[in-house]
Amino acid sequence: MLNVPPPAFPAPRSQQRAAAGGRAKIPLKPGRSLMDWIRLTKSGKDLAGLKGRLIEVTEDELAKHNKKEDCWICIRGLVYNVTPYMEYHPGGEDELMKAAGMDGTDLFDQVHRWVNYESMLKECLVGRMALKPVTVPKEISSISEEKKQLNGMLPEKKLLGISTKDLTPSYDWFQTDGLITIVIYTKQKDMNAELVTVDCDDKRLRGEIIVNDYSYVLEVDLDHAVEEDIFINIAGKVGKVEIILKKKDNIHWKMLGQPLESHNTFIKRKNRGLFFRKCKLVSKTEVTHDTKLFCFMLPKSTHLQVPTGQHVYLKQTIAGIEVVKPYTPLLPFLPLDFKEPSCHDSANIYLMIKIYSCGLFTQALDHLQIGDCISISSPEGNFKMSKVQALEDLFLLAAGTGFTPMVKLLNFALTEVSSLRTAKLIFFNKTEDDILWRNQLEQLALKDERFEVQFILSEPTKDWVGKQGRISSSLLSAVMKRSRKDSKVLICICGPTPFTEQGVQCLKDFGYSQEEIHAFTA
Ligand code: FAD
Ligand code: NAD
Repeated sequence: MLNVPPPAFPAPRSQQRAAAGGRAKIPLKPGRSLMDWIRLTKSGKDLAGLKGRLIEVTEDELAKHNKKEDCWICIRGLVYNVTPYMEYHPGGEDELMKAAGMDGTDLFDQVHRWVNYESMLKECLVGRMALKPVTVPKEISSISEEKKQLNGMLPEKKLLGISTKDLTPSYDWFQTDGLITIVIYTKQKDMNAELVTVDCDDKRLRGEIIVNDYSYVLEVDLDHAVEEDIFINIAGKVGKVEIILKKKDNIHWKMLGQPLESHNTFIKRKNRGLFFRKCKLVSKTEVTHDTKLFCFMLPKSTHLQVPTGQHVYLKQTIAGIEVVKPYTPLLPFLPLDFKEPSCHDSANIYLMIKIYSCGLFTQALDHLQIGDCISISSPEGNFKMSKVQALEDLFLLAAGTGFTPMVKLLNFALTEVSSLRTAKLIFFNKTEDDILWRNQLEQLALKDERFEVQFILSEPTKDWVGKQGRISSSLLSAVMKRSRKDSKVLICICGPTPFTEQGVQCLKDFGYSQEEIHAFTA
């Protein structure tokens, strides 16, 4: 489905034709890069094919446009003529055709829901799906006033029906002369700071609480102005979250504020749109010849902590189109002392990013100046920290920047998991010069006897005396040994998609269970 194509696609024999998210990119014809697409959208051509009109599309009408040369797709109630886009789609025409003449929302969300299709396809917009009456299921009719559905989808809140009603958080607020306190009762016992994200931009307050696979959002246009700094108190055991705001003026508030669109909603996390805030670039340091460590400062009025194993999305407008790509926050360095839990730097987000010479997004990132701002989303990801509990052997298989999710994970395991006996990083790179944080890793291995690192190069010079090659059963069987028979093991793998796929296959062939393997993908 829709994706952001690279401007100059990988060389024909390049192994880098891997798409984020596990779908292979296909080679595009010359002149079909994202930049070419942007040019075409700005050419004034009638890409929607309706001479500038927008129409209401019925399901029957949509279904008629199901051929490559006449292909309409509906995403979240909006219908696009994607025929002109076919040749520009990095996932290929066949992938796009899977949703021809249909509602492609689910397929789109499965593959790359972060892609800003509204911006990419705005010139292809045909119109909206026509509203049609629906029969409201009995069990939810009592809570639903809405008698219409858009494009076959009931509004989320109502889909939840009665089963999740009991889980829905609630909120209350009170004030003193100087403070506004909003209390959210999450009904979740192990509430912690990583499950709470709060942004207060001017008078617009948005708080999001993650409850298992669900997201609760409180979103209001505050009655009066507040100071920039916000405070969060969490009573984890009782699941109570307090957001404390300082009033700018010492006046009595009649109400908390006007509810905004998502206010007081509780929906599946995957169905919640990405929320971005502007973060300032405060430093950019070289890690290797092509990789840099970026430090972005969160606004003072944001509370956000990225959980171990999760990533964020960065958004930039490139040639007038919003482009979004995922990156995995890590620590500014590898802590060497694991006796104390490392103190959390909650004001900054650190990202280690490889700058590709023809990379659309990374080139633009590299051109950011200190003090420039970029939009960063709230965290996402499906890594379950419960996998690390009572862990004895941790194997980390990383290739290139696939190292990034391993940093926090390694730090957490060495610091917090008392049962841990061994942590082994098997780090695949092309050349010695590509190895990220080699010095730090070697120092850590000297300092902590539980940790071991092995570098494996795919394109070594003749001086390299270490292991060489690409991921394979023989390489892995030689380096992956449990500390004892039946030890509790976790193997995490991250890198280019073919690397991850081959690695997972080898591990399955070795007999490791699904539970024991975690592959980082989009
Ligand atoms: P594009 O314009 O898309 O491609 C230009 C050229 O770059 C291509 O021709 C190709 O040679 C090369 N290239 C592009 N994408 C890839 C790729 N995925 N693999 C190999 N070569 C590629 N990257 C980081 O540097 N640090 C991270 O922490 C990080 N975290 C990620 C987390 C997730 C969940 C995922 C899915 C990806 C992550 N990535 C990370 C990759 C990142 O999202 C981009 O794909 C990458 O920065 C390239 O973007 P670009 O627009 O510059 O390149
Ligand atoms: P790279 O091209 O420098 O390659 C590093 C190593 O990966 C190579 O030395 C080789 O051993 C292995 N490799 C590369 N292509 C392979 C193939 N086709 N088959 C088997 N092994 C192969 O890597 P890079 O440019 O640093 O790319 C890192 C990748 O990791 C990117 O694709 C990025 O999207 C991905 N990544 C994903 C996440 C995530 O959470 N999902 C996080 C960070 C990075």
